[in-house]
Amino acid sequence: MDNDGIGLAEALLGLPGLRVLEVAETGDELTITIETETDRVGCGRCGVRAEGHDRMAIEIRDLACFGRPARLVWNKRRWRCVDPDCDAKTWTEESVHVDRQAVLTRRAGAEACRQVGENARPVAGVARELGVCWWTVMNAVIEHGRPLVDAPARVGPVTQLGVDETSFLKATAEHPTVYVTGLVDLHAKIVIDMVEGNAARDLRRWTEQAAGKWLAGITVVATDLAESFRSGLSPHLDHARRVTDPFHVVRVANRCVDSVRRRVQNETLGHRGPKQDPLYRIRKLLLSGTERLD
Ligand SMILES: [Zn+2]
Repeated sequence: MDNDGIGLAEALLGLPGLRVLEVAETGDELTITIETETDRVGCGRCGVRAEGHDRMAIEIRDLACFGRPARLVWNKRRWRCVDPDCDAKTWTEESVHVDRQAVLTRRAGAEACRQVGENARPVAGVARELGVCWWTVMNAVIEHGRPLVDAPARVGPVTQLGVDETSFLKATAEHPTVYVTGLVDLHAKIVIDMVEGNAARDLRRWTEQAAGKWLAGITVVATDLAESFRSGLSPHLDHARRVTDPFHVVRVANRCVDSVRRRVQNETLGHRGPKQDPLYRIRKLLLSGTERLD
């Protein structure tokens, strides 16, 4: 399909300022050759009208088009300043629709970021789908996602803070397991921040740089029973009531019941009970919840 001259192809493309030169089907893909509509441009340095120097074709991955993967081939112009005394020499044009690395259109980058951020899809899966490398998608996530995360209005006043660790990278020959500590607004159900590490000093470093007024508004902090959290929250969150979820409390209680059972067993029999021993046989019953007992 050649340029129809009445803008139908441009309307379908939906990238103002770009003109469609050709649409071709290659295998399962659509390849759309485009150029900018800019025919005259002044030199950025001296203002003299520039002259077209040459063009180079750049391939850019775009959003799928009517269910087919789409690729743009941008005949990118290089302009030249005609004033021999000007330092500008030559430069290539840019487009607001294309990211700085010129691998993805900005709308494809924004969609890749949404897939990873909002739909929690793995970067590798989105990269495979778009036919680009892992870093292309990760860069799009950073470019489009960071402003969303850093937006000052994203995290308001927090009254109930949740803190928990997650293993982030599995141990390899080069490094042990890398943990991150997540901080969550329990009321708004949003992640406030992620801190690298799970040691007390990692958490304390974070609370140190948080605004005092914001910390003062926190009345409850929910964590597991790890000592590192207890000391990491001190002294900046000493004023908040500390809450632990039932799962962790019950686990500690169960461990105590178990150790008492083993001690009683040892004291009465002088050794670990045999398999048929009544005390050994009720070991699971001892840990069952009231609601599950008849
Ligand atoms: Zn110039």
